[in-house]
Amino acid sequence: MLSIKDLTVNVNDKKILKGINLEIKAGEIHAIMGPNGSGKSTLSHILSGKSGYEVTGGSATYQGKDLLAMPPEIRAREGVFLAFQYPVEIPGVSNVYLLKAALNAVRKYNGQDEVDAMDFLTLVKGKIKALEMDEKFLYRAVNEGFSGGEKKRNEILQMAILEPKLCILDETDSGLDIDALKVVADGVNSLRSPDRAFIMVTHYQRLLDYIKPDFVHVLAHGQIIKSGGPELALELEEKGYGWLEDGQVAA
Ligand code: ADP
Ligand code: MG
Ligand code: MG
Repeated sequence: MLSIKDLTVNVNDKKILKGINLEIKAGEIHAIMGPNGSGKSTLSHILSGKSGYEVTGGSATYQGKDLLAMPPEIRAREGVFLAFQYPVEIPGVSNVYLLKAALNAVRKYNGQDEVDAMDFLTLVKGKIKALEMDEKFLYRAVNEGFSGGEKKRNEILQMAILEPKLCILDETDSGLDIDALKVVADGVNSLRSPDRAFIMVTHYQRLLDYIKPDFVHVLAHGQIIKSGGPELALELEEKGYGWLEDGQVAA
C-alpha cells in the first residue's frame, strides 16, 4: 500500500527527516514512536500533503502512484486520511453537511454518483450508532465547542464514513486523555480491515495498550533507528528512548 524509500525532508532549510524507509501493507498497523522533536509529525504531514515541507530526496509510493506528487485533496480522494491534526472549528457549517460533501468529493473522484440524501442519513446514523455517538452531534457546527473526546470521536466518524485506505493518526505531543484514547482505540479497532492500513504516531505507549500494532518503529533525529513487533513498545515504556539513542549521532 505504501512504500517510503530514503525520504528526506526539510523544514525551513533544516533537515528534519534524514532517510526514512518504510513498507506498509494493507491490513497492517504500524506505530511510529520516538522522542519529542524526532520528526514524527513531519512524517505524517508530508504523507498527507500539508504545506511547509520540502522533500529533498527519496520517494513515497502509494498504491503504485507517486504520493508526493499528488495535491493534498487528491491524496484524500485516493484514500489517505490524516487525523488529529489540531482539528479546526468551522462555525456555521454542520457536521453532517461537511461529512456529506467530503463523501461526495470522494465518490465523484471515483466516478460514482452523489449519495442520495436519504441514503446518506441512513448511512451516517448507522455509523453514529455503532460509534455510540449522539445524533445531535451531526447538526452541530464542525468542531465548534467540541470537547477533546468529541473531536476525536468526530474524526473517527469521518473515517467510518469516508472509508480511507491509509489512515494516519498523530496523537501529537499533548497526548490524549484516557476517554479520548478509548474513543480512538475503539474506533480504530472497529475500522481495522484487511484492505486498510494505519500509521499510528504516538509519543507515549499508552495508546498501544488499546490498539495492538503489527509493527513498531522508533524515530529519532529524523531516522528510524529500530523496528520491531508490539513488544518493542513495551520495552520503550520500560526503558524510555535513551538506550536506543546512545551511540546515535545527533546530526
Ligand atoms: P515530533 O512530532 O516527533 O515531536 P516534529 O515533526 O513536530 O517532531 O518536529 C521535528 C523537528 O522539526 C523539531 O526539531 C522541530 O522543532 C522542527 N520543526 C517542525 N516544524 C517546524 C517549522 N515549521 N519550522 C522550523 N522547525 C520545525
Ligand atoms: Mg513535537
Ligand atoms: Mg508531533
